[in-house]
Amino acid sequence: MISFDNTKVAFQSKSDRDLNMAYWLFKIIGMPVMVKMGKPLTNFALKIKLPIKGIIQKTIFKQFCGGETIVECRNRMNELAESGVGSILDYSIEGKTEEVDFNHTVEEIIATLDEGKNNPKIPFAVFKISGIARFGLMERSNLSCDDLDEKDLDSYKKMYDRIEKICRRAHEAKTAVFIDAEESWIQNGIDKIAYEMMEKYNKENPIVYNTVQIYRHDRLDHLKKQTEIARQKGYHLGIKLVRGAYMEKERKRAAEKAYSSPIQPNKAACDLDFNDALRYMINNLDVVAFCAGSHNEESNLLLTELMKENNIEPSNPRIYFAQLLGMSDHISFNLTHHHFNVGKYVPYGPIEEVMPYLLRRADENTSVAGQTSRELNLIMKERSRRKAIR
Ligand SMILES: Cc1cc2nc3c(=O)[nH]c(=O)nc-3n(C[C@H](O)[C@H](O)[C@H](O)COP(=O)(O)OP(=O)(O)OC[C@H]3O[C@@H](n4cnc5c(N)ncnc54)[C@H](O)[C@@H]3O)c2cc1C
Repeated sequence: MISFDNTKVAFQSKSDRDLNMAYWLFKIIGMPVMVKMGKPLTNFALKIKLPIKGIIQKTIFKQFCGGETIVECRNRMNELAESGVGSILDYSIEGKTEEVDFNHTVEEIIATLDEGKNNPKIPFAVFKISGIARFGLMERSNLSCDDLDEKDLDSYKKMYDRIEKICRRAHEAKTAVFIDAEESWIQNGIDKIAYEMMEKYNKENPIVYNTVQIYRHDRLDHLKKQTEIARQKGYHLGIKLVRGAYMEKERKRAAEKAYSSPIQPNKAACDLDFNDALRYMINNLDVVAFCAGSHNEESNLLLTELMKENNIEPSNPRIYFAQLLGMSDHISFNLTHHHFNVGKYVPYGPIEEVMPYLLRRADENTSVAGQTSRELNLIMKERSRRKAIR
């Protein structure tokens, strides 16, 4: 049986120096006070152009990002590939509002697709629709486009064309592409376009993958319904299964606007649905191709067991595991050690622009119960192991 405790495998690509750096980094971001103080200080320092870029580059950026450009990411991607881990280049720029920026982001996403062409170690590309369209437009068009004014209709068409351009290129380059899931009040619109793209581009192979956030109590049913639709219409349903990243925001908005929260009543309900969704997709592998995006040891383990029970080869191309760069290496590397398909999101972009992403990683590692101490314990275990054999 696979075990995630093998730290030799987990940290094989990390030098002692890298390991020490990761140790101090997780130690610092494990302290809520440091993260709380560090966030505004870093933003301020970058704003007034204090020379802190070098420090960020050598620390938090190095841990969680591949580089500032695709070319800079290549070393890191090669390192991952040596251990059998695939890369999912993620151009992590957020908060843009101008058409010119959206078009630039599309070109960058297309460059990630082209980087993946004929390269089995780049199994997927990824994008967020809110990175190539205005959030407000997505909100207004979430349920229907009927009430959009002329200007919005024009912007909607531009957004649609951009998504289509990406999916068409993914199909040509034969690099599958994930569409990330976002807040529930823009997700209907994302789902609608994602499934339309699948109907067009997933006839022969799963190319377009939509993301299902199982922390929403309606998503297991959604998954089942979409599987039946895909079966009827004759296309592959590509799914990235995650728990979901916007829980607090979702609950807060629901409370403020007095509607019933879309989020599961508790973590246990979320975990149950995640595991049921894995079982369901395994049983419908003729239609569904999927990637489990999770740092949860039990869920990852369960998926390996389900595959074994169903005589599915670890390297079956319809099933992938994915984690984020710099997090849960013990899961990623031990999975590939047992020949499972694994991809790591490799975020990249100019340092100033990926700061929101980096600060979210810091926040997440501070707030996810046990996540930082788990990373720290594993690093300490590996440091002791290395000392003992010296
Ligand atoms: C490769 C990859 C891709 C991702 N893509 C996306 C994406 O496109 N969209 C997106 O939203 N997120 C995405 N995420 C983030 C993901 O949704 C989770 O926030 C994160 O991975 C933590 O969940 P977990 O399964 O790793 O671990 P766990 O630590 O087991 O789960 C933590 C998660 O459980 C849920 N949860 C916690 N407490 C409760 C509660 N009381 N009630 C209900 N649910 C609860 C929340 O979703 C929380 O994030 C991605 C993650 C990865 C690794």
